[in-house]
Amino acid sequence: MAVSITQALDIIYKNSPLVSTEIVPIEMALGRVMREDSIATFDLPRFDNSAMDGYAVKCADAGTTVTSSEVIYAGDNPTMTLEATQAIKIMTGAPIPQGCEAVIPIENVTVHDTQVTLPDEIQENIHIRRAGEDIKHGTVYLYKGEKVTAYAIALLASQGVTHLKVTRQIKVAVFGTGDELRPHFEKIAPHQLYNSNTPMFLSRAKELGCEVQYIGSSSDTMESLEAAIRSSLNADIIITSGGVSMGDRDFTKDAFTNLGMELHFDKVDIKPGKPTAFGTIGDTVVINLPGNPLASMVNYELFVRPTIRKMSGMKACYLTTVSTLMRDDFSLRAGKYTVRLGDFDGKTFMPFKKQLPGMLSPLEAANAMLITLPEVSVLEKNTPVKIIPIGWELTARTQEDFFTH
Ligand code: AMP
Ligand code: MG
Repeated sequence: MAVSITQALDIIYKNSPLVSTEIVPIEMALGRVMREDSIATFDLPRFDNSAMDGYAVKCADAGTTVTSSEVIYAGDNPTMTLEATQAIKIMTGAPIPQGCEAVIPIENVTVHDTQVTLPDEIQENIHIRRAGEDIKHGTVYLYKGEKVTAYAIALLASQGVTHLKVTRQIKVAVFGTGDELRPHFEKIAPHQLYNSNTPMFLSRAKELGCEVQYIGSSSDTMESLEAAIRSSLNADIIITSGGVSMGDRDFTKDAFTNLGMELHFDKVDIKPGKPTAFGTIGDTVVINLPGNPLASMVNYELFVRPTIRKMSGMKACYLTTVSTLMRDDFSLRAGKYTVRLGDFDGKTFMPFKKQLPGMLSPLEAANAMLITLPEVSVLEKNTPVKIIPIGWELTARTQEDFFTH
């Protein structure tokens, strides 16, 4: 029995085990998922400091000429106190002196030797960066379950953090199945076919932050399939393509079940890619995708991506969509949950006319897809549609309705 797309995702979220952690230097943490909150051990900024090159002044001296004889540079540790009728020259980032109520930028004062004429109005606190205005000591500034970005690394560095607990890299093993397949670096006969799925799956897994293992391809015999599976069992996720339909030599699922796979679903109500299956062998997740490249990759985007996110402990592991409008009229065959690849130009979306399950070129050209409900047979120009990004990530902390109605 085929499960629905949403049921399939629920099963995936429920059965994808969380991968263990490791401690890495923050410079190596980019793209990893945080497994602990980060709590500020001090204020950021750490001390009150000047936001401009200018003069530290008192508000009551507005409109007067004051005397300035000292300078505070960034990196100094000033001990003086600013008195009335004085100004102290100060550089951006330098700690403000005791008694300073505002900083006036250099371009807003007139200077003659030690005499500085101040503007008529001085707003209290202006151009002073207060301690803790960015991050307060004791507060959480990065959360468990978030992906580490360059900006997160900047925050960690600003707190003097050297190492971070993150999910270790997820190991993905990939193999294709099919007697007709040959690796792309060999000469082939006219009736043979290059294995394009394995390199595609591997590359996409790498893009999604995984460590990958190339198992190549298996022929359509139980022995060969079982050998390929045994070589993959140390992975966290095994992704295969082919041999999952109704053909006489479609043994992929049987080979996995022979080796202990618990099958959680073996078909999804989706077009293309119905024979997509999901199972587990201990803590290893198995995803069997169809052999047809476009069908397999559509289901990879829909089901493998969330699996990786879930296993990495990412809180925002759910698919989400961009709401846009149809660029032009488009008709499709009703009756099935249908995935259509297409182009989103930032304003409108247009599915490609030519896309068949066995094709490769629409995958390369697409940057988004939409999934229509079975009753949809036409999408007129300017119809609101929801698209799922491919190649760029957009995720949510809860599962949304991502179907186009
Ligand atoms: P299957 O699901 O094994 O029946 O395969 C369906 C179609 O996809 C057939 O035309 C296969 O030749 C093709 N195919 C299967 N595996 C691959 C692969 N790794 N690379 C490219 N095409 C494939
Ligand atoms: Mg096959």
